Amino acid sequence: MSGSEAGGLDGIRAGILVTGSELLAGQVHDRNGPWVAQRLGALGVEVADVLVVGDRRDDLRAGLRFLADQRVELIVTSGGLGPTADDVTAEVVAGFAGVELALDPKLEERIAAILRRWATRTGFAGEALAAANRKQAYVPVGAHILEPVGTAPGLVVEVADGPVVLVLPGPPGELRRMWDAGLAAAPVHDLLARTAPFEQMHLRMFGLPESEIAQTLRDVGSSVEEFGVEVTTCLRRFELEVDLRYRPGSPGAARAAEELVAEIERRHARYLISRDGESTDALVARLLAGHRIGLAESCTGGLLAGRLTDRPGASEYVAGGVVAYSNQAKADLLGVPAELIEAHGAVSPQVARAMADGARERFSADIGAGITGVAGPGGGSKEKPVGYVCLCVTTSDGDVREAAPVLPGDRADIREQATHVAMHLIRRMLQGRS
Ligand code: ATP
Ligand code: MG
Repeated sequence: MSGSEAGGLDGIRAGILVTGSELLAGQVHDRNGPWVAQRLGALGVEVADVLVVGDRRDDLRAGLRFLADQRVELIVTSGGLGPTADDVTAEVVAGFAGVELALDPKLEERIAAILRRWATRTGFAGEALAAANRKQAYVPVGAHILEPVGTAPGLVVEVADGPVVLVLPGPPGELRRMWDAGLAAAPVHDLLARTAPFEQMHLRMFGLPESEIAQTLRDVGSSVEEFGVEVTTCLRRFELEVDLRYRPGSPGAARAAEELVAEIERRHARYLISRDGESTDALVARLLAGHRIGLAESCTGGLLAGRLTDRPGASEYVAGGVVAYSNQAKADLLGVPAELIEAHGAVSPQVARAMADGARERFSADIGAGITGVAGPGGGSKEKPVGYVCLCVTTSDGDVREAAPVLPGDRADIREQATHVAMHLIRRMLQGRS
């Protein structure tokens, strides 16, 4: 049964077309595609594709055609609205809609005013500026104009028997500031009236292999699909996220989703760390309230301290941290006995524990965390290969949590993953979990 039959909303599909040759060259990371996708998703719009194309007319045209062929009703473009010769989006979108570009004299005057202010500040005035001004005031006939936040206007162009195209500038700050105006423009507004945000549930698990959740979903997950509940799983940072979403008003969906969540909880309770999408960092921050933690890091070089202090208010619970790379530093700054390092090696569970104790004592904290490992690419041995990391969390009342995994990947991966393992050791200790 479709949503509309049920009196709900079917929702709409959209495509995103990001332009910029520098994005294809890998010089600049695309910050617009993911941002727009997230915004559309939050509005309940199904994003069918995000395409990245270079600043070439043919490629832009092909991108628009491809998206229209996916039967999207909305296309959002980013980039190529500026004054330079490679800024061709307005022209190509006009062609796609089968209309001409025409000079909008009033818009030209508004852009001129912006440019005059800019010229006064910078001293760049003259021919080039006048040409830039004029080019940006050429807009597709019939387009709805979004006032420039830089110098280029955004556009909303309706294509007969096709999608509505929302044309936004490339600089991420400009695109974001124009977003609300784009949504408010009548053609976009009318489209969005046909959709509503999804109902969502987020489960986050740690330590459960993906194959296990796959099995559970095979056993009990397929039945929810007939109620319009979509289930996706995603493994990142050693955490397994299971997301359920459905259109509001889909009959039976809420109950089906709740039953599935209850079954996952029943089977995998031990691994479940959050039911409401709360991030591990937020959870650890919450659990650390009323405590003070001291950190001693070798191979992670302060990444754990960086992560724990990322949140506002971290000074309430982070007492401090030491990056102790040399044996001397471990001895002098953390009181790790030289004999312990001599006997077991700098990368050993014993030294990780002494680092945790040392940090706890030196920072007058009640929790200490120590990390020492072989981040590579050199320095590995048969007993202690690259990726071997010893972690320990200790408390002033004698609780000790340890891990000594061999982590996969390159140096950056190993350092990052060691930080995740540390976060979860701290979490489990604070939750009193084994
Ligand atoms: P301008 O008037 O600045 O030329 P424009 O709409 O023509 O704006 P582009 O020329 O495509 O936009 O891009 C301008 C700058 O914005 C680029 O140099 C790039 O650094 C940045 N930019 C564009 N698109 C993106 C993107 N998707 N992600 C991150 N940065 C981007
Ligand atoms: Mg440009």
